[in-house]
Amino acid sequence: MADHDDARRKRGLLTTLTRAGRSTENTARYVNPPVYRGSTVLFDTVEDRQRAVSSRYGRAVSYGVNGGANHHALEDAVAAIEGGDRCQIVSSGAAACSVALLSVLRSGEHVLVTDGVYGPTRQFCKSVLGNLGVEVTFYPPTISASELALAFRPTTRAVFCESPSSHTFEVQDVPGIAGVARQHGAVVILDNTWGVHHFQPFEHGVDISVQALTKYLSGHSDVCLGSVTVASPQLFEQVRDMVLALGQYASPDDCWLALRGARTLGLRLAHQHSAAIQVAEWLAAHPAVAQVLFPALSGAPGHDIWRRDFSGAASLFGVEFIDGFTIGKSHALLEALRLFRIGASWGGFESLALPTTGYIERLPAPDVGRSRVRLYVGLEAPEDLIADLKQALDAC
Ligand SMILES: *Cc1c(COP(=O)(O)O)cnc(C)c1O
Repeated sequence: MADHDDARRKRGLLTTLTRAGRSTENTARYVNPPVYRGSTVLFDTVEDRQRAVSSRYGRAVSYGVNGGANHHALEDAVAAIEGGDRCQIVSSGAAACSVALLSVLRSGEHVLVTDGVYGPTRQFCKSVLGNLGVEVTFYPPTISASELALAFRPTTRAVFCESPSSHTFEVQDVPGIAGVARQHGAVVILDNTWGVHHFQPFEHGVDISVQALTKYLSGHSDVCLGSVTVASPQLFEQVRDMVLALGQYASPDDCWLALRGARTLGLRLAHQHSAAIQVAEWLAAHPAVAQVLFPALSGAPGHDIWRRDFSGAASLFGVEFIDGFTIGKSHALLEALRLFRIGASWGGFESLALPTTGYIERLPAPDVGRSRVRLYVGLEAPEDLIADLKQALDAC
């Protein structure tokens, strides 16, 4: 992508985030929609209620579970960030992945899923989809579009991508995969959590883009939410039908918090991209480190496709240690860190670290392969984070 397009996109995000999902009712002219909590909605006439209840895909407020002003405001903001047609909020990022898959798959059909997929999504595919009679094939994340074409069957209805992969950070050729999927009439679903805003899914042929809003978009480690954003009104109807059938619901308080977090998303993304580069470059030069799995780093795996398709990077990457830096040492390292704390998730203001080896099904067993950890660079000064890594590496 040309540099001026990147600059235009970043400028666009900053202004968009101050406008999206603003109060439209304006009864009291508050900038943000206040929190609307509620289950029952009252109507004066049967006809009014009938009209509201029958507006399945519209925004008439008819009952708590069907969503209200806070859901709609956040949906507008996420649709603007993702560049999609419409968005549906769900209870978590994991729910967003399962809702997206269930919306497009029926018994007897086949789905191609990247082998680099987020662990709980893999489990969902193997257990729930398997039990429902949906056939699942896991394909290598870096497969070429022409190789993937050979894996399609007459029953293939969907291709699930996640780029880069959870924990292993391979970058997928999403536009190439989408081209093949289109030829076979299959829907492309992308878990775009790492690529939030940096990767514009619908410009690259994706049909359904999933976000764990729990991560960067909320940004403060205090909310679990997910979103399913789609390219067409027809897909929105399929997603909405599934959400209503499952009774999927998110709290309006959480939607309000997520929208509040989203206002600073542009600033956080820009700052954390450059902070992560600084930390990753320092690590890459350390003698205990074999490689840093960060697509934004020049020379790293996936860097070429990242450069072609992304306008920036999440501050989440993997570190692979040299032979002889045992899994025990990598755990001692994590425990010696003071600013990076051990914990799941990412996208908040605080730096985090997790062991990877032994947790990823397709990586070699801990006693065979090199040890790996995952780091998330938060909003601390990058110099302090580097000093923290240095003291912990010196101590192991
Ligand atoms: C965290 C995460 C999810 C799940 O989000 P939750 O809100 O924690 O359920 C899904 N996909 C990716 C890539 C994630 O990082």
